[in-house]
Amino acid sequence: MPVEEYKSTDKWDDIFLIISYAMASASHCRSYKVGAIIVKDRRIISTGINGTAEGCTNCDDIFPEKTSPEFNRKEHHDFSTANEIHAEMNALLFKAKNGIGGDLNGATLYCTTQPCNECIKNIIQSGIKRIVYSDSYNFSAYSDFIMEAIKNNKIELVQRQVKKTSNAFMFLTESLK
Ligand SMILES: [Zn+2]
Ligand SMILES: [Zn+2]
Repeated sequence: MPVEEYKSTDKWDDIFLIISYAMASASHCRSYKVGAIIVKDRRIISTGINGTAEGCTNCDDIFPEKTSPEFNRKEHHDFSTANEIHAEMNALLFKAKNGIGGDLNGATLYCTTQPCNECIKNIIQSGIKRIVYSDSYNFSAYSDFIMEAIKNNKIELVQRQVKKTSNAFMFLTESLK
């Protein structure tokens, strides 16, 4: 594909969001699979999926399929809050660990899902200036403090819903199931 066709930010946003969905497919969470990547100068410098810490038992080793009557939402919620690290945080922490690709100042974080209040305050503090997500996340609005931090740090927060019927999306997500 000629480079010219990928000139617009929108196109790059789609590419990186689709890669985030491919990442999400590797998550071991029974409830919800999330993928995030950090990009600087159009290069991926970190990736993350939601799940337990490295070396720990995975969510899917403990809980049955979400569609199973045995799956207990409340039990998973408590387990997840205590033990699972969100994809955005895993991407930030992997970057801290490996140090690849320079610092985070001015970088963009892509996430399949809207970052929660907890994650977004950490993303803002990391120097990331642009946050692009696809799916809405069902939670109450960000706190006034978060909204103030977004404004004062000139963070661009964008929802860009990926076309889930596109060939690239179908290929990456369906073939990875
Ligand atoms: Zn889980
Ligand atoms: Zn989060």
